[in-house]
This record gives sequence, structure tokens and C-alpha cells, in this order.
Amino acid sequence: MKILIDNGHGKETPGKRSPVWPDGSQLYEYEFNRDIARRVYAVLTARGVDCELIVSEICDISLAERVRRVNKIARVVGPSNCLLVSIHANAGGGTGWEAWTSIGQTEADNYATIFYEEAARAFPEKRMRKDMPDGDPDKEENFYILKHTSCPTVLTENFFMDTKDDCKLIFSGSGRQRVADMHVAAIVRCIEYHNNK
Ligand SMILES: [Zn+2]
Repeated sequence: MKILIDNGHGKETPGKRSPVWPDGSQLYEYEFNRDIARRVYAVLTARGVDCELIVSEICDISLAERVRRVNKIARVVGPSNCLLVSIHANAGGGTGWEAWTSIGQTEADNYATIFYEEAARAFPEKRMRKDMPDGDPDKEENFYILKHTSCPTVLTENFFMDTKDDCKLIFSGSGRQRVADMHVAAIVRCIEYHNNK
């Protein structure tokens, strides 16, 4: 199985940042997403997992280009043998962790359920934001990267950068390592699930 890691947004993307906190600190989402992506990539590669970073650039790569890169790889490996994980930080004043997949019952839902289990295990003190009416916890939307990728895609929203306690968590090195370790644990389980299908 091939694991593809996407880190959303670029250095110049407007809006994708926390407020300036009283101590003068401000979290930029592009930097957080890339830091988590790099940590996840490093551990997976060291474990021998076939893993690729879709966006090595620091600038914003358009969704169309990111999808083109993903689908090019998926064509070679076979879409069902790929899993794309798109890493983000949330905004809008809530709290907790959530994941998104495309609309409808797809293989991505099964992968997302594994992510929710690992997120709940890694962050027992944090709220898991679920959407249960369709029988699984993930939220579903026609986000471009979910809809247009040919392989299963899970988009993770790793806490709220505009909520003080959440932002403090994802600002800290230890918090970031927990987020990265949680992704690694989920991805390793997704690979096992895929290989045993
Ligand atoms: Zn984002």
C-alpha cells in the first residue's frame, strides 16, 4: 500500500492562521500542517512504509495540482492501493478533533473510522467531533480534495487554531508529536486493514 501525505495551504494563503495571542505568538496553518506531515513521513519511512509527500513546496499549491499529483501516483499503484491523508488545523471557534471523507459510503469511511479510534486513544481528554447518523463517525463533504482524488482520502482537522487551549496544544512540540504519532498509528492500522481485505 502506498501512503500519500498532503499538507494543505501555503505560506501566503490568507486567513489560515490563529489570532495573535496575548504573548505575541501566532500559529500559521501551513507551518503546522507541514511539520506534522514531515514528522509522519519520517517515522513511516523509517518503518519501511511506502510513503510520499505530495507538497514539498512552502507556497500554496492549487487543489487542482495537488489532485493531479495524487491521481498520477494512484494510476500507477492502483487507486485502491493508495491512501491519501490531508493534514489540517481547524478554525471557527470550536474544540476537538475531526476527520472528513467524500460523500457516500466508500472505503475512505473505513479508514476514517480507524483514524477516529486512534485519535480518541491518543487524546482521551479532547472532544471527538463525530457525525454518526450514517453509521460511522467521519464527517462528509464535497471538498475538492475529497471529491476529485481517485483514491480513498481522509482529511484530518487537528484541533482549532483559533481556540486557546487547542492552539496551545498544537503549538507545542509535545502536542505536535502526539498528533504525528496518532497519524502514524492510524496509518499503520489502515495498511493492516488494507492488506487483510
Ligand atoms: Zn486547512
